[in-house]
Amino acid sequence: MAILQRNAIVLATRNADKVIEIKEFMNDLDFEFLDFSGFPDVPEVVEDGETFSDNAIKKATAIYRATGISALADDSGLEVDYLNGAPGVRSSRFAGENATYAENNALLLKKLDAVPPHRRTARFRCVMAFVGQSGTQTVEGVCEGIILNELKGSKGFGYDPLFYVPEYGMTFAEMDLVLKNRISHRGMALSKMRDVLRHRSG
Ligand code: IMP
Repeated sequence: MAILQRNAIVLATRNADKVIEIKEFMNDLDFEFLDFSGFPDVPEVVEDGETFSDNAIKKATAIYRATGISALADDSGLEVDYLNGAPGVRSSRFAGENATYAENNALLLKKLDAVPPHRRTARFRCVMAFVGQSGTQTVEGVCEGIILNELKGSKGFGYDPLFYVPEYGMTFAEMDLVLKNRISHRGMALSKMRDVLRHRSG
């Protein structure tokens, strides 16, 4: 049953790391962030949008409708220029529906085989959507980089070991989490969303 809580926001993600990261990032705001796990009846949302924004809005809207509480959702992925923006919204399933990170990375390396460094430009993009009584708002964060021709670093997840950030001379997988979160697409989007939330209350 929907319980309307003023200043509460449900986080539309089942990823425990993201929940911790978002709560930590927003801890100075006057909102109570609720874990998705407290709402078992919320329907599974199929991420079949054409854009990150479509998917983020779709997820947040579904949670808002099911709970009656404002919701925050994000969608993100990698856009490689040589591949005309792929894998994009298909980042998690680039090498197939249940592909592992290793399989996705292997496919990316294969598709960029022999492509010279100056044509290996890419970016991570993250769109975050807030849906509440007062409407929908999205923000976007982007981090530019280059896809290496071999894996480097052991931290992080996903495409991190292939994503090299020239300004810092290392891949996302070589950065400690504090640095990655500060400069990453998600960090940028979170920072913008914190400013949005400061000015509204559900
Ligand atoms: P989601 O937004 O968490 O669903 O991310 C979709 C997919 O994009 C992930 O499965 C990863 O493959 C990729 N991705 C998104 N953010 C990152 C990141 O910070 N590092 C590496 N891969 C990422």
